[in-house]
Amino acid sequence: MISLKNVIKTYDGKEVLKNISVDFPDGKTTVILGPSGSGKSTLLRSLDLLVRPDSGTLSFSDISLDYAQPVTKKKSFDIRKKTSMVFQNWNLFPNLTVIENITTAPITVLKQSKEETEKRARQLLSQVGLAEYADRYPSQLSGGQQQRISICRALAMNPEYILLDEPTSALDPELETQVLLILEELSKMDQSMIIVTHNMQFARSVADKIVFVEDGEILFDGSPKDFFEHPTTRIKDFLSGIT
Ligand code: ADP
Ligand code: MG
Repeated sequence: MISLKNVIKTYDGKEVLKNISVDFPDGKTTVILGPSGSGKSTLLRSLDLLVRPDSGTLSFSDISLDYAQPVTKKKSFDIRKKTSMVFQNWNLFPNLTVIENITTAPITVLKQSKEETEKRARQLLSQVGLAEYADRYPSQLSGGQQQRISICRALAMNPEYILLDEPTSALDPELETQVLLILEELSKMDQSMIIVTHNMQFARSVADKIVFVEDGEILFDGSPKDFFEHPTTRIKDFLSGIT
């Protein structure tokens, strides 16, 4: 499990995370919902230290960190290894082939052998239906295919948790479906995931837990059933698109 406790993040004196405490369970899919600018990306990025909150704690089962205290390189590395982020715009390296995009970090950062890493990368590529694209360059692929590759790249790091920040919001609806199907499969295989999305139908089908964030605060933390079937007035407005 990942636990955040009393996390505060300010930008230019404005609190964008206001004393947040929340848990992300193992082997489950947690979906983070909320209007634009509410702090969802900041929250997600705090988990892999892309964002450093001002105070609060981040704990995994075997390691924890006080955001307010200095952290050693070793500890920061150990914490960052636990998660892998998939970005909205996939961010593949344009000058590397598909297989190189997937294998570079495991080889250079985790010091894995090239042979083993490539073997695993090819397995991942076939899992997402892209086995024959290993030697192409990202520009030769559709956005949906590139996003599936960036999911492979995240999985190749063998993280405990995959973090996805609006993974399909830059995709056309028909390409979105391909990516969502893969995430649903990963979810069924009990991959631990934390997903920020605006796709309510997807959230409903994939989430084991929903966290609703607004204005830097958590207004709901519970089951999808409670969220969708017994919404508060505020959540009702959000769901009907009034936000
Ligand atoms: P969301 O992902 O829910 O849209 P964000 O976490 O990106 O929200 O942003 C939350 C708030 O923090 C917003 O008001 C945003 O403008 C502000 N913010 C985010 N990143 C920065 C930054 N690097 N510098 C200043 N303000 C930021
Ligand atoms: Mg965001």
